[in-house]
Formats: sequence, structure tokens, C-alpha cells
Amino acid sequence: MEVSPKARNFLWCACTNTLPVRAALKRRQIIEDAHCRCCPNSNETLFHALMGCERIQSLWVDYGCEAMIDGGEDMEFLDLFLKWILAQRIFRQVEDFNSYTQCIYVGLCRPHLSRPNQWCSSPDELVKINANAALNEEGWVGMSAMARDKEGKVLFSVVRRMKAWWPSDVAKAKAIHMAMCWPRKQGLSKVIIESDSQVIISRLSKAAIYYSDLDAILGDIIFLCSDFLFVEFSHVERDGNYVAHHLARVVPLGYEQCWVNHCPSVVCPYVLMDTLSLN
Ligand SMILES: [Zn+2]
Repeated sequence: MEVSPKARNFLWCACTNTLPVRAALKRRQIIEDAHCRCCPNSNETLFHALMGCERIQSLWVDYGCEAMIDGGEDMEFLDLFLKWILAQRIFRQVEDFNSYTQCIYVGLCRPHLSRPNQWCSSPDELVKINANAALNEEGWVGMSAMARDKEGKVLFSVVRRMKAWWPSDVAKAKAIHMAMCWPRKQGLSKVIIESDSQVIISRLSKAAIYYSDLDAILGDIIFLCSDFLFVEFSHVERDGNYVAHHLARVVPLGYEQCWVNHCPSVVCPYVLMDTLSLN
């Protein structure tokens, strides 16, 4: 088969029903919402993602193949694979997906090139939000986000704690997602989101999304960018993300806790250290 390894991997996952569609990710508690981003009334099952979704159906119609997907949810993708010519269109979609996301989101996500090992404040009217996650052996994941202005003053801090067996990158991406849900509630529309995960920041800055568990979360984060007037993703070395690192270890009252204009007292010394380092 003359296709790229990425397309081959995609086809294998589609035929074995292991593609990380949103319904599958929700079953595994990686995301909370299984709805298709384009069709609010449908869950994104394998059938929906490849055949049922409105966004995809026009592709089938364009190539005069709509009759082939009439089998509804009962149809196995493997059957469809035998109708090979159609699958080629799907490969094309995978190949094109990165350039597509770049075209749409490139204006929002400018790569941040400096990698300081100490925290720097945001310029002018921007708010910097540091995010991080902490995992422990009992399966608890702590996620944190702290927003500060250009003088280092805390605008809000949030902690969420839940049981989940996530790899570190997935937990850090979930923390960024949580961090991006809060600014609008506080009336903030221009933000720099900072994390010590270089992989995640580099992928978000390029809007490079493929098909994996992590990518589903990165896709959700990029989707949230449209709520803002300005978003930049910034990488900082671990030493520069100390505040979020310690905040992620704070146990909230209940599932999630937010402190507006201040932070838990155990984190105050680290905030002070960052503020002093600005001068
Ligand atoms: Zn859909």
C-alpha cells in the first residue's frame, strides 16, 4: 500500500475500532464530553467520526459514494475498507489536517521562543497563566493554574483534584485545558499560557494535532483559543514553573477550588520569590 506510515496507522486503528474518538476517550475518563465538535446532538463514535458526521458526509457525497455509508451504526469500518477508493480520501484528510489547523489557528497561537529557567511576568495588558499537574501513586491527579499580571500580582489560582491514571503529558495537557476555562469567567481575554512541558507547548504553538489520547485534549485546547482575543503558549523550564508545581499539590475543598486575587498560603512564598526575581 503506497501511503505514509501515519495514514497506515490511522487505517489500522479505524479497522480495529481503536481510534481515539471522543466517545472512546470519555469511556476511559480522559475527556468529559463525548459530543462531536461539529454536531452538538451526536456523540463522536467511530461511525460518526468517519461516516456519520455532517462535516464528513459532504466528502462522501462529493465523490458520489453516499450509498456506501447507508448501513448506519451497524456498519463495520472494515467492510468499508474493502471499498478502498473511499479510504484514500480519508488518508488525504489526515494528511491535510495539520495544514488545515495551522490555517485556522495560526493567528492565535504564536510560538514563544524564549525558555527561561525563572518565571518572567507578562508584557503590558497580557495575563500569564502557569499550569501544571502532579501525580501520586494512589492515582490522584492534582491540576493547577495561577494567573498573574505584569507586576506578578495573583489574579486567580485554581486547583482541581481527581482520581485518574494518566501519563504525565496527558495530566499536564488537562491542566492547560482547565487553565483556559477560567480566564473568561474573570473577564480576561488576552493570555499567555505557560507550562514546563516542551512537547505540549511546541505542539500547541504549531497547532499540530494527530490522532492519540493526548491529541484529543490538545484539540480541545485549540478549540478554546477562539474564546480569546489573544493566546500565546509559552514554555518555561521546571524551575520557572515552581508556583504551579506546588499549587498542584494543594488539596482543594471538593473537586475544584478557585481563589480570586490570592492563593493558598503554602504557595505564597513561591509567589513572593517570583515577584522578587522580577527586579
Ligand atoms: Zn459530527
